[in-house]
Amino acid sequence: MSETVFSKIIKKEIPAKIVFESESVIAFYDIAPLAPLHVLFVHKNPSTDLNDLMEKEPTQVIDLMNAITKWTKEKNIYESGYKVVTNIGKGGGQSVFHTHFHVLSNKTL
Ligand code: AMP
Repeated sequence: MSETVFSKIIKKEIPAKIVFESESVIAFYDIAPLAPLHVLFVHKNPSTDLNDLMEKEPTQVIDLMNAITKWTKEKNIYESGYKVVTNIGKGGGQSVFHTHFHVLSNKTL
C-alpha cells in the first residue's frame, strides 16, 4: 500500500489536531469539516478501505469502534448521537486510501 497523508500523520511527519490516540488507533479533526464536529478515526495498520480491511484483518474494525465509543463517551455525545461514515473506493467518494471512519456531530465542542 502506498503512503498516504494519514500514514504521515500516524508517523507525526505532518501535523494534525489529534484528539485520541491508542496503540492501534489515531483520531484527529478533519481539515475540511462537514459538521461542527468532524473527526477521523484511522487504524495505524494500513489498509485501503473497509473492504480491504475486512479481507485482511476484520478485528481492526472493533479497534476503531472501541476508540469511537471511548471518545464519544468522553465528549458526551455517545448518548445524544452522531454519524459514523466510511467511504469505500472512488465510487463511494473516498479520497484518502487508508481506511478511516468519519465521526460527525451537530454538537460544537
Ligand atoms: P474520504 O473522502 O472519505 O477519503 O475522507 C478523507 C478526509 O480526509 C476528507 O474529509 C478530508 O477533508 C480529510 N483530510 C485530508 N487531508 C487531511 C489532513 N492533512 N488532516 C486532516 N484531514 C484531512
